[in-house]
Amino acid sequence: MADYRHFCIYCGKLIPPDAKLCPFCGMEDPFTMRCPRCRNVIEKGWARCSCCGLELFVICPSCGKRTFAASCCEQCGASLTVRCANRKCGFVQVKMGDRCLRCNKKLK
Ligand SMILES: [Zn+2]
Ligand SMILES: [Zn+2]
Ligand SMILES: [Zn+2]
Ligand SMILES: [Zn+2]
Repeated sequence: MADYRHFCIYCGKLIPPDAKLCPFCGMEDPFTMRCPRCRNVIEKGWARCSCCGLELFVICPSCGKRTFAASCCEQCGASLTVRCANRKCGFVQVKMGDRCLRCNKKLK
């Protein structure tokens, strides 16, 4: 029997193919990598979003190395995501600055 589950591009876990967000890491749109700011489709390895120019690399707070803006650091595996504390928003995102990319509230 084929297994129709797919891998989450952010955390690599197997999840249902119709999942709107990953039940493991909470990232939205777990099969297509998108720019967290403008939702343009991006590819792993890009330095910047081709649409809005957002930098797609972050400095890992755990090891201090530059890593692609995925849910985990490529170098040490530390989690790079934060959930917005604004209850109306709650957007899970890769921390790319000190503000939520969706509602612009300050992240903790
Ligand atoms: Zn995931
Ligand atoms: Zn963008
Ligand atoms: Zn790291
Ligand atoms: Zn928010």
